[in-house]
Amino acid sequence: MNYYSTKNKELRKSFKEAVMEGLPADNGLFMPERIPQLPLDYFDNIQDKNIQDIAFDVLKPFVEEDLNDEQLETIIQKTFSFDFPLQKIEDNNYALELFHGPSYAFKDVGATFLALCLEEFFKVEKEKCTILVATSGDTGGAVAAAFSKVENIEVVILYPSGKVSELQEKQLTTFDENVKALEIEGDFDDCQQLVKQAFLDSDLRQKLNISSANSINVARFLPQMVYYFAPFIKFGNEPLTIAVPSGNYGNLTAGLIAQKMGLPVKQFVAGANRNDVVPRFLNSGNYEPKPTIQTISNAMDVGNPSNFQRMMDLFSEEEIREKIKGFAFSDEATLEIMKKVFSEKDYLLDPHGAVGYLALKEFMKTSEGKGIVLETAHPCKFMDVVQKVTDKNILPESAQALLKKEKKSVKMKVDYEAFREFLVG
Ligand SMILES: *Cc1c(COP(=O)(O)O)cnc(C)c1O
Repeated sequence: MNYYSTKNKELRKSFKEAVMEGLPADNGLFMPERIPQLPLDYFDNIQDKNIQDIAFDVLKPFVEEDLNDEQLETIIQKTFSFDFPLQKIEDNNYALELFHGPSYAFKDVGATFLALCLEEFFKVEKEKCTILVATSGDTGGAVAAAFSKVENIEVVILYPSGKVSELQEKQLTTFDENVKALEIEGDFDDCQQLVKQAFLDSDLRQKLNISSANSINVARFLPQMVYYFAPFIKFGNEPLTIAVPSGNYGNLTAGLIAQKMGLPVKQFVAGANRNDVVPRFLNSGNYEPKPTIQTISNAMDVGNPSNFQRMMDLFSEEEIREKIKGFAFSDEATLEIMKKVFSEKDYLLDPHGAVGYLALKEFMKTSEGKGIVLETAHPCKFMDVVQKVTDKNILPESAQALLKKEKKSVKMKVDYEAFREFLVG
């Protein structure tokens, strides 16, 4: 399989090149040149398959020129090493929990797969690489966990001092060896600016092989197809409606590709917070990016979602509007459904899953069959919001253990020279 750029269909890169480059030089996004088809009878006995076997069948055609079967199998065993349980919320509506990985969010899947692919590729090149990541809190944890103990790759995470939650901070600062945390005395934009400056520093780049773990890397987005198959293992070959809480639309785009491969998804429903550019497009046909608005589902605060380019590349505008129904909700409505579902159904949604659930319920008013909402994070990651719903202690044991660990970080002013010095030593 080769990959082209959404801005240049003639470009051809291998999987390995697309992963190592992250973004095409023309500022488009890499896309697979074709969507492989699963055999028509694949879903006849889907209930007998497990998630790792499915991951292998689904991902192999996308990577086979650059990873042999044994390498792919090892990467899959490590990436899909936790469960994706389906919890009944009410009637025909279920939550597919994607948060049982190391950083309690679905981003663990993509980050781990990317880390393990890079490990294989750098092993062959016999080179070392430094990954630079600026985080406002959430993504950094998934990247830190994914790259810890990965050979030949060092990770430097920049986060704004005092601006991430205690649990998030511990997720960034408790790894030793190859994952280093820089606590920047500034805000997220300052962190991002320092990283950008490093990428533009040609002298630094001659001394150090630097790369990013960007969320639009194909190796982060392709493995997200796999958990869409999990509800079908339980319910068999029955068309399902799937609601996806969305921000940058990588998760939903992965679902659309799975559907194109043959997954019998009846309907996709996109749930957005007040950053509602895609639902507005689906309803009106006009795509108007807006400045980002802060909400309580902050991992979905994206005013101009990058993966919209990928969706438009896969389908015509008419097809998109048919395949996806989109709804947007306020923080008040989000908090209200969290309270209602907790008190009436004894299920605690996180703010992102809650937005998805609102969208699912809205769509189901005029539809039938089973509905699934993707629960993208554990509610313990958003205690400031969850405290308004319950004072119950919901921290998983592993998170309690994490909170007891000692934080290791290097404090730094917003100073490029100091950052550069830290990198080249
Ligand atoms: C990143 C994130 C999302 C949004 O996913 P996209 O692929 O950017 O649409 C939703 N929920 C949580 C918890 C996230 O971390």
